[in-house]
Amino acid sequence: MSESAGTMEELFGWASQAALSAVRTEIREVVSGNKSALVEAFYGYMMEDAEASRFLSVKAVEAHLKPGLEIWLERLLCHQTAEELEEVLAMQRHVGEVHARAQIPLQLVARGMRLLKREISARLVVGHLGRDESVLAVMWVIHLIDVAFETMSSAFEHSREGDVRTDEAYRMSAAGTNLSLDRERQIAVLREWESRLFRAMAMEMPLENVSSLHSSSFGLWLDHKAALIFDNTRELSLIGECVGNIDGAVFPAPDGAARPISSPEGLRALIKSVTAGVDQIVYLLNAMFDRLADLEVGRDVLTHLFNRRFLPTIMKREIDLSRRTGTTFCVLLLDVDLFKEVNDRYGHDAGDKVLQNVAGLLLAQVRISDFVFRYGGEEFLIVLAEVDETKAHFVAEKIRRSVEANPTPLSEDRKIQVTLSIGLAQHDGHPDFSRLVERADKALYQAKASGRNRTVVAAS
Ligand code: GH3
Ligand code: MG
Ligand code: MG
Repeated sequence: MSESAGTMEELFGWASQAALSAVRTEIREVVSGNKSALVEAFYGYMMEDAEASRFLSVKAVEAHLKPGLEIWLERLLCHQTAEELEEVLAMQRHVGEVHARAQIPLQLVARGMRLLKREISARLVVGHLGRDESVLAVMWVIHLIDVAFETMSSAFEHSREGDVRTDEAYRMSAAGTNLSLDRERQIAVLREWESRLFRAMAMEMPLENVSSLHSSSFGLWLDHKAALIFDNTRELSLIGECVGNIDGAVFPAPDGAARPISSPEGLRALIKSVTAGVDQIVYLLNAMFDRLADLEVGRDVLTHLFNRRFLPTIMKREIDLSRRTGTTFCVLLLDVDLFKEVNDRYGHDAGDKVLQNVAGLLLAQVRISDFVFRYGGEEFLIVLAEVDETKAHFVAEKIRRSVEANPTPLSEDRKIQVTLSIGLAQHDGHPDFSRLVERADKALYQAKASGRNRTVVAAS
């Protein structure tokens, strides 16, 4: 599917330059002159719609979405050069990702686009253009909106796929799927293939009776199931390479026929390389499963806090909940001050101990309904459910004081004291959670810039 919009000249090869130029001018006038009316019509229609209004808060619409749509309309429909149009379409991919994060259904966006086409076309046909030119103008506007929508949808779908996988991992973890059983089973299946191959070799049976590793049940699991579970990790592609190498050594002929083994040395070399390949696969499988086991319980290995990977799932749920219940919630972003110095002075292991201590202190200060994440190296993120800015500020300060007052014991007489800088943001109704995190991040930055060991509340 092409995402290139093409130019007006390409699309309307038969039309004169003068006509196209008149069309451009008219579109620009209609869109620029009516942008706020168009935006009002769009959101008026959306907010009336029961399904759509579930995804939009009045505050977010007024503060962010209306100005955003105005800019979008002008940039898309009144662009001057092909480069400008490409830029808008690049932005469109971002819009698709945002919509996916906000879980806004595509059919809603499609409905909104239809309304915009109708509103703009209605104004174009009663404008200054002749009949033929106004047909061109309407066609061009519809074409541009369609291309933008198409670009957005593909980014949307792509982004949703990733989300679905995270949600799936979360669901598996919640449901307690037995991954260790799966691990044992796959390793057994792989070993079974290996011993069947060696048995055939030892008995000088034709290897045609043995399936290639790729088409064995292990290979099938790899292609169909592992890709889903492991989210195309590096280990997975390395395993794929190992499978290819093993099959290449055992069945080198282009038609997949086995190599006739002419000498005992040849046989030994082949067995050695197959064994090495299979061992390598087992090693990679274990590494992959180990990592998933941490994810399975949703925890960071060092601190046992929630893994950042589940942030989208949790945040989307909180946003949805606050929309439905009319409550609000807050996010704290916390960063250990001058942590690099701790590592430099006491070593990395001591640094790890400090992080574990801080994690424990965080958990001790929040309610059971809150979520504490290890967000990055020495950064933490806390979702405080059903609290406003004032209450959240109180909690943040409590946390900050507790970390300051509880240094990490290294030995009898040695303790490491650290402090935290905290950025606080209250959810402002915007459906995209990453905006909320961004606001908390800006506040955190201010806390650092204004001297550290303090809490700064993000502007709304
Ligand atoms: P600031 O107050 O500006 O945040 O200063 P800082 O030194 O904390 O900031 P910076 O981001 O430069 O340093 C963070 C350090 O945290 C660097 C990195 O080596 C360390 N770090 C990240 N993850 C871990 C970890 O898991 N264990 C340990 N021991 N150190 C870590
Ligand atoms: Mg940091
Ligand atoms: Mg830091």
